[in-house]
Amino acid sequence: MKIAIVGVQGDVSEHVEIVKKALDNLGISGIVKPVRKRGFISESDAVIIPGGESTTISRLIWRDGIAEEIIELARDGKPVMGTCAGLILLAKHGDKQVEETDTRLLKLMDIWVRRNAFGRQRESFETEIDFKGIGRYRAIFIRAPLIERVGKGVDVLARIDEGIVAVRERNLLGLAFHPELTGDTRIHEYFISMI
Ligand code: GLN
Repeated sequence: MKIAIVGVQGDVSEHVEIVKKALDNLGISGIVKPVRKRGFISESDAVIIPGGESTTISRLIWRDGIAEEIIELARDGKPVMGTCAGLILLAKHGDKQVEETDTRLLKLMDIWVRRNAFGRQRESFETEIDFKGIGRYRAIFIRAPLIERVGKGVDVLARIDEGIVAVRERNLLGLAFHPELTGDTRIHEYFISMI
């Protein structure tokens, strides 16, 4: 099994490490590789777009032809997970900030995202969520987006008081928080089970 981690910017090594751990726990052998150029994604079984700065990640993946590869892989029905900035990039509908920063989205998930939804007062925080199919889970939010609305085919997997924070649309998984920053491998195991 080959899993690509978009490696142009953001929490790349954290995702690589936790995917390796999750594969280990599941007894599956696989290659997990950070990707900065086109080529590896098209031969992968799944791809993860990490958190970071969505405008920067967007610019680099479109510049280097990685964006088209992710879109093709997703259209082939292979799993794609976006976390935080990665979630923003998966969305079909961005907010004013996305528009004003000319952040080009991949437009794969029928969701409406609001970038930096928590403002300065709550830049980062941790909270317990109920994740559908997983149960109680401690989620870490850092300058996180929120999902304000979802289209018909989208399953809401978790929410907090302010709004939706985890969604799945067929082979696509989007999280507003950072599952790579906890020691908890359950979300990555859930993602691998989608392959
Ligand atoms: N605030 C970032 C953005 O909008 C996302 C934050 C993150 O990925 N930790 O790009």
